[in-house]
Amino acid sequence: MIQAKAINHIGIAVKSIAAHRDFYEKTLGARWEGEETVAEQKVKVGFLLVGPDGHEVRLELLEPTAPDSPISGFIEKKGEGLHHVAYTVDNIQQRLDALKASGLKLIDEKPRTGAHHTQIAFLHPKASCGVLTELCQPAAH
Ligand code: ZN
Repeated sequence: MIQAKAINHIGIAVKSIAAHRDFYEKTLGARWEGEETVAEQKVKVGFLLVGPDGHEVRLELLEPTAPDSPISGFIEKKGEGLHHVAYTVDNIQQRLDALKASGLKLIDEKPRTGAHHTQIAFLHPKASCGVLTELCQPAAH
């Protein structure tokens, strides 16, 4: 069992963060938190927060920065929209080892560095009815 502590964020694939930011800010009232480019993933990420301080949920708008970005491939196949749901976990490597041992399909057997210096890993969407699942271990403070 992964023992997810919370939903860490929801990832949404977009062609352009600038084109969609207004909807989240002006229609939903989400708070813009900033932008970060994750060069390794060829993606620019825009962060928005929804909900009261201390209980907010983060949205990640994912914009490809190159035609061979994984997000470009996703948008080509499925169009813009829900890309993944991320769950907060601790001991991410142990969680991955245990899942692998249980026979669950993983995309990442080793965690990689995500935005905000998190350690992240994806489970295969076949393991979770088509919704890509991300495990996310926050950076140690
Ligand atoms: Zn994510």
